[in-house]
Amino acid sequence: MDLGITGKAALVTAASRGLGRAVALRLSQEGARVAICSRNAETIKAAREQIHAQTGNEVIAYVCDVTDGDQVIDLCNRAEVELGSLDILVTNAGGPPAGMAAEFGPDDYRAGIELNLLSTISLICATLPKMRKNNWGRIIAITSVAARQPIPHLAISNTARAGVLGYLKSLSSQVAAEGITVNAVCPGYTKTERITELAAMFAESGKGTVEDFYRNIEVDVPMHRMGTPEEFAAAVGFLASEAAAYITGVALPIDGGWIKSLY
Ligand code: NAP
Repeated sequence: MDLGITGKAALVTAASRGLGRAVALRLSQEGARVAICSRNAETIKAAREQIHAQTGNEVIAYVCDVTDGDQVIDLCNRAEVELGSLDILVTNAGGPPAGMAAEFGPDDYRAGIELNLLSTISLICATLPKMRKNNWGRIIAITSVAARQPIPHLAISNTARAGVLGYLKSLSSQVAAEGITVNAVCPGYTKTERITELAAMFAESGKGTVEDFYRNIEVDVPMHRMGTPEEFAAAVGFLASEAAAYITGVALPIDGGWIKSLY
């Protein structure tokens, strides 16, 4: 299926590994020119080289901490200048610490909201005027199933990501008539380093072993397995495509059936 994004300019943040890198690779495979960022210069450069080697298409790497508003503005301006436009934005950041709701205080929640909610807003605020110039845009925010069905031991994530959905839904209707779609993708358990970290935190908390953590996932997920970053990236690629022009304001789970609610 031709996604119709050959030559489009895409920015994918937090993309040195895991879901962000898989999405950047997917968009590059579809012919998009891609800018990626993360905080670590060496790992983001390595990701750039890997993606370019696999696709042969233009990939630019930047160092940027998405929690820093000034760095985000600079990132979006540089990406637009160097790619010539900004058509597709995929927002992503690392995940906050795991723990139950009453284990954290306001400073912990503030940090989580900066990481997962305000970074999304900063990136979109810096990019939206560039999409409006062309009357075309795809904004896709990587959140979590926790945004739709809170996970008890991920209280900070539950809190910050629900806010992301509220913001995106509000924005989606405001810009819908301008050719700009705004959607969230909600990964379930997907094989990346984040899952390895969560397994280690689970074991450290004394609730069970690392093996128990993975066994619990297999039991909980109707498909009895974790997803792959490539499966996740395929769904993001579709939302970025011309074919998805009439889809906006949704929060799409990519979770092997884990979310239990109807909507
Ligand atoms: P990951 O493997 O831990 O990768 C995180 C990426 O984010 C790295 O490239 C990291 O690079 C970058 N990063 C972290 N903080 C950043 C910041 N402040 N500014 C810029 N880049 C930053 O995580 P993942 O599994 O791909 O997950 C991506 C997001 O989806 C996370 O928010 C995670 O919580 C969420 N999620 C994941 C799953 C899952 O099963 N994997 C499920 C639900 C939700 P640097 O260290 O170089 O900055």
